[in-house]
Amino acid sequence: MKKIAKKTAPKTTSKINTDVRVILREFDESIDWEAVKKHFKGKCVYCGKEGELHKDHAIPVSEKHLGLSRPGNIVPACRQCNSDKAAKHYSDFCRYHTRDGKIAKRRRDAERDITEYMKSKSYKKLGKNEAERDKIRKIISDSRKEMGKIRSEAIAKIEKIIVKKPAKKVAK
Ligand SMILES: [Zn+2]
Repeated sequence: MKKIAKKTAPKTTSKINTDVRVILREFDESIDWEAVKKHFKGKCVYCGKEGELHKDHAIPVSEKHLGLSRPGNIVPACRQCNSDKAAKHYSDFCRYHTRDGKIAKRRRDAERDITEYMKSKSYKKLGKNEAERDKIRKIISDSRKEMGKIRSEAIAKIEKIIVKKPAKKVAK
């Protein structure tokens, strides 16, 4: 029994953001990715590198930030910057590197560029003000707790079945 609890606990925590994403993606709008890359001249918005670019949510898709895949919130990022930024808000990420003068300037420019781009695309946040967003956060938080419970129950039920099988074999 202890073994099952140990196994399911980390799985549940790693699924938190997946649950948030499942809900939030219902409020997405279509993105013209080619136009996004063109706007940023085919470069990573954070470091200026060209080449393989990934879709980065400037405002992350998370319970805290409630970012959405809507025009203005998707920016191109190289693999490195995309993984370094992870679930940070673009403003936090852009202000992160302060020691290296060159990077600091590049990041300040990136923050300004993204803010302007978002405005130019009239990026629509979920909820019209913080009070509404707090209500939304509460709904998402409650929902993912419920989903976590259901998932743990399902995993425990499945583990009961698959644990039984080898026992039967031994019995025969
Ligand atoms: Zn980059």
